[in-house]
Amino acid sequence: MSPQLSRRTLLAGSAAVGVAATLPVALPAAAAARPDAGVSAYAFPLTAVRLLTSPFSANAGRTQSYLQFLDINRLLHTFRLNVGLSSTATACGGWESPTTELRGHSTGHYLSALAQAYASTGDASYKTKGDSIVTVLAQCQARAATAGFNTGYLSAFPESFIDRVEQRQSVWAPYYTLHKIMAGLLDMNLLAGNAQALTVLTGMASWVKFRNDRLTQTQRQNMLDTEFGGMNEVLTNLYQLTGDAAHLAAAQQFDHAEIFDPLASNVDSLNNYHANTQIPKIVGAIREFHATGTTRYRDIAVNFWDIVTKHHTYAIGGNSNGEYFKAPDRIASELSDTTAECCNVYNMLKLTRQLFLTNPARADYMDFYEKAVYNQTLASQDPSSAHGFQCYYVPLRAGGIKTYSNDYNSFVCCHGTGMESNTKYGDSIYFHDGGSTLYVNLFIPSVLTWAARGVTIRQDTSFPEAGSTKLTVTGAGAFTMRIRIPAWASGAQIRVNGTVFSSPAAGAYATVTRTWASGDVVDVTLPMALTREAANDNSNVQAVKVGPIVLGGLFGTSNLTALPVLDPTSLTATTTPLQYTANGVTLAPFYKVHGQRYSVYWSITGSTLVANYPFDGSPADVSGNGRTATVYSAAYVAGRSGNALDLNGSTGYAALPGGILAGATNFTVALWVRLDTVTSWSRLFDFGTGTGAYMFLTPRSSTGTARFAITTGGSGGEQRIDAPSALPAGAWTHVAVTRSGNLGVLYVNGGEVARNAALTISPAALGNTTQNWLGRSQYADPYLDGALDNVRVYSRALSASEVSTLASSGT
Ligand SMILES: [Zn+2]
Repeated sequence: MSPQLSRRTLLAGSAAVGVAATLPVALPAAAAARPDAGVSAYAFPLTAVRLLTSPFSANAGRTQSYLQFLDINRLLHTFRLNVGLSSTATACGGWESPTTELRGHSTGHYLSALAQAYASTGDASYKTKGDSIVTVLAQCQARAATAGFNTGYLSAFPESFIDRVEQRQSVWAPYYTLHKIMAGLLDMNLLAGNAQALTVLTGMASWVKFRNDRLTQTQRQNMLDTEFGGMNEVLTNLYQLTGDAAHLAAAQQFDHAEIFDPLASNVDSLNNYHANTQIPKIVGAIREFHATGTTRYRDIAVNFWDIVTKHHTYAIGGNSNGEYFKAPDRIASELSDTTAECCNVYNMLKLTRQLFLTNPARADYMDFYEKAVYNQTLASQDPSSAHGFQCYYVPLRAGGIKTYSNDYNSFVCCHGTGMESNTKYGDSIYFHDGGSTLYVNLFIPSVLTWAARGVTIRQDTSFPEAGSTKLTVTGAGAFTMRIRIPAWASGAQIRVNGTVFSSPAAGAYATVTRTWASGDVVDVTLPMALTREAANDNSNVQAVKVGPIVLGGLFGTSNLTALPVLDPTSLTATTTPLQYTANGVTLAPFYKVHGQRYSVYWSITGSTLVANYPFDGSPADVSGNGRTATVYSAAYVAGRSGNALDLNGSTGYAALPGGILAGATNFTVALWVRLDTVTSWSRLFDFGTGTGAYMFLTPRSSTGTARFAITTGGSGGEQRIDAPSALPAGAWTHVAVTRSGNLGVLYVNGGEVARNAALTISPAALGNTTQNWLGRSQYADPYLDGALDNVRVYSRALSASEVSTLASSGT
């Protein structure tokens, strides 16, 4: 739904925005009623971006072939029958069969895909097909009364399905299906200039409000327990287009309090909720923020995104097992043949894109977009199918294999969203700020026509097979490029016309401002390191990545019964880009893995180093596990070696990722500290979930000495190791605490100072800790005043000599 909104924004935007005569598709004369509130970036219309040859254009081409192939009369068969019109077409199968309660949804997806294909390519045949469908849908809607339905009703199933959902009788998801049709009509209006589509859509919207106005608030909220797609989104988008407040009122009748209320408080209660029922509601919430400026809607969306991407998302960017959200951080424990439903990632990408428009300063939005679009969206279409057949789930159990839809006998939800995803790859590569700033977000070969500035930007790249991209400007003028430097791209470099311009930080936007001349070239080098991403709930279960690209292990016909074991030191690059071998197994980019069994996750052997933070000017984890810390109110100062993280004693701390020692029975935490002030109960580290379950190390407890404690029963249940003295101020001090079996040992400056042989509580007993802090307590204790350096976390107990070596080496 987003591309047309950007067009509306363009039409409503600054006078600088115009339409170049060279654009292959004329923009429709859509109304431009309401600008979006709370956005500071804007999309280019799909018509402004053309894909060059890449895996994305190949996917798009297959889907376009399918759109051309489909017989519209077969898709309209049940619509016609529903209102007593004759149809001799062969009925579709699968979820479009005449007896399936979801019938008609694919026609909506098809309309969106046709509109997007038309805008993306300029090929009028897509519009012609879409126009023909809209004509028939208008005929069907006009016969609503004749068929015994209320005015404006349009569907391939009778209106009695709506009676059933209102009365809480068994029915699949009628509003879900109507949402697809409404969204398809809106796309045909905004992307293909079909005025009749808007007329039909406003008729449907009026019918929706008529139905819901008859219900009490309680009846409406109960009805919302049944999946309804993004009804709030499409009605809000219609409000933004028409300015008719009735459409916003209708949208807000679909605000589902049971889902919105906890999210507004940033509470994760998603466990056991059907994932793709919820995500579109949140896409609706961010659009309701853009339409109303009500920040509660924005908070719901931002909180949901943070919760889902950090606590419910697999390495490929998808979520859900058996279509349901699970308890937070369950990843390794939820690997099956029905993981990562593709509709979910389609909707998460829509949400991510809207959040980027809301806050384009956050580079992590588009980092996630990149992760998901390469490792799931691109990966879930069958490249051997001329028609772009689509996965429903992406199996993530070891030995899983992708399976796909077909021409006429599938029509599952993901087949529909797949048609949409593969016809809009041009919609998130570039954005602008409404003035003179261009965002370059994705490294996909393409040409942007930036009509407002009178320039084109051509992006040539073989990324991700090579870690670089090249942007060539045609036309002239002063403007700024803001180029996303992904969090994975440490050591990036930008050259302008061959001369080094900057070495930008990873995980942020690099800015290049100049008065451009035609032919200017920006080269961006993006080093792609071989890394691993650990599952939140088991640090020994990891996926292998090169830059953002997840690798899959190729297992042919071997149906594995357990995770394959991988020693990361055995990974060996081959001459094929992004392809490795390890102990006889080939690993290839997961987006290229089709037609054989594979494993995305591995049981990692060898290293027990969970995380390693040198704090040399960044919160990066250099262990290879990718557990980047988040630093709050802290600075980098000269450290014991290199730099150190300086905490101010009042607000500064660092947060390590969730479940940092999840599943570990033995462990070591080793670090350097230089205290500026020895404050009782401040923390070197404190990993826990609150004041009930935690493990901490303080430089001075109330008994006046340093203490390690671990508990699953609050302060009364603590098991402790008390040092003979407090840690000193003003001197770099090495501290380590280890557990092996029930033996806990505390070391200071390389020597043992205390032990507890009855330390029966292990980190595993704490579960998936969510508050893993350096310098901050689970309690309202003082923050640490001092500097931390070379913080290491292991899932085994280092020996006394290993601790001594760390202390004597200064690292
Ligand atoms: Zn689906």
